Order: sequence, then structure tokens, then C-alpha cells
Amino acid sequence: CGVFGVYAPGQNVSTFAYFGLFALQHRGQESAGIATFEDDRVHLHKDMGLVTQVFNEDILETLVGDLAVGHTRYSTTGSSRVVNAQPAVVPTKLGPLALAHNGNLVNVAHLREELSKRFHDFVTTTDSEMIALAMGDEVNDGKGWLDAAVAACKRCEGAFSLVIGTPAGLIGARDTNGIRPLVLGVLPESDDGETRYALASETCGLDIIGATYLRDVEPGEMVWIDNDGLKSIKWAEAATRKLCVFEMIYFARPDSTMHDESLYTYRMRIGRQLAEENPNDKNLADIVIAVPDSGIPAAIGFSQTSGIPYAEGLIKNRYVGRTFIQPTQSMRESGIRMKLNPLKDVLKGKRVVIVDDSIVRGTTSRKIMRAIRDAGATEVHMRISSPPVTHPCFYGIDTDNQDQLIAATKSVAEISQHIEADSLAYLSWEGMLKATLQDTEGFCSACFTGDYPIDIPAHLRRSKLM
Ligand code: 5GP
Ligand code: SF4
Ligand code: MG
Repeated sequence: CGVFGVYAPGQNVSTFAYFGLFALQHRGQESAGIATFEDDRVHLHKDMGLVTQVFNEDILETLVGDLAVGHTRYSTTGSSRVVNAQPAVVPTKLGPLALAHNGNLVNVAHLREELSKRFHDFVTTTDSEMIALAMGDEVNDGKGWLDAAVAACKRCEGAFSLVIGTPAGLIGARDTNGIRPLVLGVLPESDDGETRYALASETCGLDIIGATYLRDVEPGEMVWIDNDGLKSIKWAEAATRKLCVFEMIYFARPDSTMHDESLYTYRMRIGRQLAEENPNDKNLADIVIAVPDSGIPAAIGFSQTSGIPYAEGLIKNRYVGRTFIQPTQSMRESGIRMKLNPLKDVLKGKRVVIVDDSIVRGTTSRKIMRAIRDAGATEVHMRISSPPVTHPCFYGIDTDNQDQLIAATKSVAEISQHIEADSLAYLSWEGMLKATLQDTEGFCSACFTGDYPIDIPAHLRRSKLM
């Protein structure tokens, strides 16, 4: 999911939120929503669909206020229905709160049980709504907004990057492992000369509104933004950074910045690393192509190191969403035919290396290999700029159950055969982490190893693991 928040009295906060969400659209395409606060009143609009389908100027004009919270949803828990769209708005005795969540909790069953003692029926089925209810519960017990938010975070286990609107101010918070990203920026100076802040899942959500990136919200940190500016507290005693490495490899936009460089640069570097790990690839092919768009930076890096020229061999229809994010397998399967078309003139008679960021189920890769061969390629070698995905994600990326993951049951040689490649190689786990140029302990890479940094309760393990 994508989350966004802005505090800017006197400015057009719903327009900022609209553009922020538009830049974060790749993080979820199922539903979109914006809540604004005008004194003690909340204005909310959310619906199924893309940001541009859910909002228009008339709707944005009704969303007035001093601050806004926005969300784009990609369903990992709860079905894809409008009641599950966010922000989740909960009334409290201090007024309403609106919460946008990216990530996945692992203690939902426990939280649900606790909350069901206090609330008789849940409006929706998502873990995100439960965080909002837990915070409302704390407010109704007599806590102020910030204390209530801290208490709610302490009741949650798992991955959560939160943006929470209240009548008094805006909150941003990250779980103690910082699994999902969340960044803080300052808006360009306005007429009133005050410093105004924005929060977004990724820096591309700041760029689009002209905000300047200040820093990340840290794992275990909570920020409070109001008329007096910015206040930061550590809501948890201890924090251990475990950023989702898949954000860097695939999920986040390539123009977003992490660790002071664009992810485009990281993805080129893993492409170079991939070529370094396969030195015999130099004479393997006539051209290197990418699976657009996600494989492009790694393919360029691979070309630079292997010396094989880079070419465009597949043209993508940019108006089709990410095939992976459509909820059903049959939708996914029809999605790919709409999406990519091979360039016969480039591929005909050529030995081809094709680079992609990942193989999850193997369905996309198999279709692409066929299409390239049908276009006249004589050999097709696949190179993947991440290790084999062998385990499901419990922290907010929908990598499906383990039995759906092709690398959970097949060796590299068997996968190569399944996708009908002349050869297949993956990036090493060490290479993926080394190329971050960061402390390699600072990442979650559980979908490649099964080494989950946050314990998964037995019933959840059983639901997704083989
Ligand atoms: P597959 O061959 O497993 O069917 O599809 C792999 C392709 O799906 C890759 O090109 C990758 O960019 C894309 N993809 C889309 N969404 C996701 C996701 O959430 N996780 C992963 N690993 N790959 C995804
Ligand atoms: Fe990211 Fe994989 Fe960890 Fe999930 S399991 S948070 S996708 S690295
Ligand atoms: Mg892709």
C-alpha cells in the first residue's frame, strides 16, 4: 500500500494528497482514499479503483481542512471491497481519527479477540481498521492523541508504517523493524512563512508536491506534526532495522531514494553483480533485453558488466497495471497478454539474455520466454536480479502461499525447464545484500531464506507455508 500525509493549514491539502497518492499508485491499485480534518470534523472520500478514477476536482473541493491523510490499497488481508478501503475513520471522545496503514500485522487474531470485548461488530475485516480501533479505544480510556497512538503501536506486532490524522495534528509511525518505508519532507515555503511537513511511503510522493526530503521516519519512531512544527518520540524501547529488501529490488519506484541513492542506481548495481557472478555470460548472447519496466535498470547493469549490448526487445503497454497485483490468477493470466509485446525486428535470429527482477510463480516468465522465441530469437537465457523466492511474505507483500512459489518446490534447473529457458541464473543472496552498500543485517530477506525477523504465529504459518 501507499500512505501519505500532509499538515498545511491554509493550503490545498486534498490536492497535495491527490498528487502524493498519484505518485504512490504503484504501491496499490485496488482502492484509494483521502481524509481531511477541518477543526473537529473529518471529510472522507474513498472508493475502489485508481487514484484518477476515485477523485475528481469536485470531490477534492469538498475535502477541505488543515491536514490530509491518504492511502492507496493493495490487498494483503481482507477482501477487495470498498469497506476495506482506507483511511479507516474511527470516532473517539476527542473527535475522529483517520488512519492509513502499509504493512501487515502478525498478531491480528490476538488483537481481534481483545477488541471484540470492547466493540461488538467490526465494520471491516482488515488489520488496519483494528489498529484504528485500538487507538480509539486508548483515547476513550482517557489518553491524549500521541499517548493513544503509542499505546496502539505497542499492541501491534508485524509490519506497519502509519499515517494518522486527528483534529489536533498529524502522526507518522513505523514499526520497530521499519519493514515498510516512510519518509518525512518539508513543503516549499508558503505565504505564512511556516515550515510545513509531509509524510509519504516513498520520496517520489514528496517530489511530486515539490516537498524536500528531510529524512526517514526511523524504525520505532513516531512523529507528531502540528502548528508548532515537528516533534519526534521513540515509541518503542528497542528497534532493529529490517527494511524489506524487496522494496529495493522491485516494489518501490526506481526514482525513489533509499540510503541516499535512487533505487534505479541500486538496481543497476545488482545487474552488474549478476553479470559478475556469471562470468561466462560474456559470450552467451548477442543482446541483453529487460522485462519492462521493473527489469530495465538491472538489464542495463548486466549489459555494462558483460559487455553484451542492451536493446529493447519487449514493448509494454503502460496503461495496464502490474499484472501481479490483480487479485486472481485468471486475471493475472489475461493481464500479461495485454501488457507486453515483443519487437520482432530486434529479436529475430538473435541469442538473447533477458533480465527480470524476480520470479514468483513463474507464469509471467514462461509466457515471456514463449513470446520471445515466437518472435524469432534463437536462444533465450534468463537472468534474475534477486535470489529464488522460496517463502511467502507475512509483512505486507502479497507473494501468495508457499505452494504457489515456483522456487519452493523446484530447483533452478527445473524452473529453467518449466519456463522453457535455454539457461537460468539468479543473483546470490549475498550479492543482493552486498550491493545495498549498507549493513547487511539491516534488511528483511525472509522470502529468500525463510528467516523471518518477526515471529509468525503457528496458525499463520500453517495458513501460508507448506
Ligand atoms: P512470475 O514469472 O513469477 O509470474 O512473475 C514475475 C514478475 O512479476 C516480475 O517481472 C516482477 O516484476 C513481477 N511482480 C509483480 N508484482 C510482484 C510482487 O509483488 N512481487 C514480486 N516478486 N514480483 C512481482
Ligand atoms: Fe520483504 Fe520478503 Fe521480508 Fe516480505 S518477506 S518483508 S517481501 S523481504
Ligand atoms: Mg516485472
